Amino acid sequence: MARNPFIAGNWKMNMTVPEGTELVSALIAEKDDISPVEVGVCPPFTALHAIGSLLKEKGSAIKLGGQDVFGDGTGAFTGMISIPMLTDCGCEYVILGHSERRGRFGTTPDWLTPSLQALFADNDETVNLKASIVMPSPLKPIICVGETIDERKTGDTDSIVRSQVEAALKGLDKSKLGEVVLAYEPVWAIGTGETCDSAEAQRVCKLIRDTVAGIDSSAAEAMRVQYGGSVKPDNAEELLGQPDIDGALVGGASLKADSFAAIVRAAKKTA
Ligand code: PEP
Repeated sequence: MARNPFIAGNWKMNMTVPEGTELVSALIAEKDDISPVEVGVCPPFTALHAIGSLLKEKGSAIKLGGQDVFGDGTGAFTGMISIPMLTDCGCEYVILGHSERRGRFGTTPDWLTPSLQALFADNDETVNLKASIVMPSPLKPIICVGETIDERKTGDTDSIVRSQVEAALKGLDKSKLGEVVLAYEPVWAIGTGETCDSAEAQRVCKLIRDTVAGIDSSAAEAMRVQYGGSVKPDNAEELLGQPDIDGALVGGASLKADSFAAIVRAAKKTA
């Protein structure tokens, strides 16, 4: 089955409204025909409304995504963001269970003390709870999984990735499972400049698809599996050319229009 590649930029804690507006304006100005590639940006919450309005005003096909979500209702949950808040800004996607949200960092600056790190407390159970509220909503989840360097060194990559996928998808509506995007993001490759070798990334992305097939085979065929971890213009084509890699979740290289656009063009070449 042909799956449209999906390149999503995770801006993380970067970009004020003017900076994000400048970046997205430059992406919109790229007039290349990139179909069938789907492109998305996931700004911080503070920029979602402005970027969503800009994309709408320009009639852009670039999709908008949130970086996390808490609940579907309203209530006394200081600092949290709901599904209607994201959809109101124009979001179609939301990232769930990014390794940083799970407190599993590729790199940690000195100021990130253990007590600050403890604020990033997502785990398999909370990722599944969030996925189960997102699935019936208009949002589609981009669910991140991946092993740390220690888990890789002890030979636990496959069991960790398989169990994260099974836990995240547990009990979700099988008829919509194909709409979920799964992102394989080895933690040791995130923001480190170290990329997973394309053959190994393909092997793990296939393991992810096979794990989904154990739940529902047609969902596994339809589902986009992205690779994420130091994707750059010079390694994108090799990674995106792999049969089970259907796109990329891009951090650092999504913060500059020229590098993000080059990754999108690489996806177009391999589509
Ligand atoms: C990410 O945070 O999802 C990511 C892949 O970051 P980077 O591209 O900077 O490694």
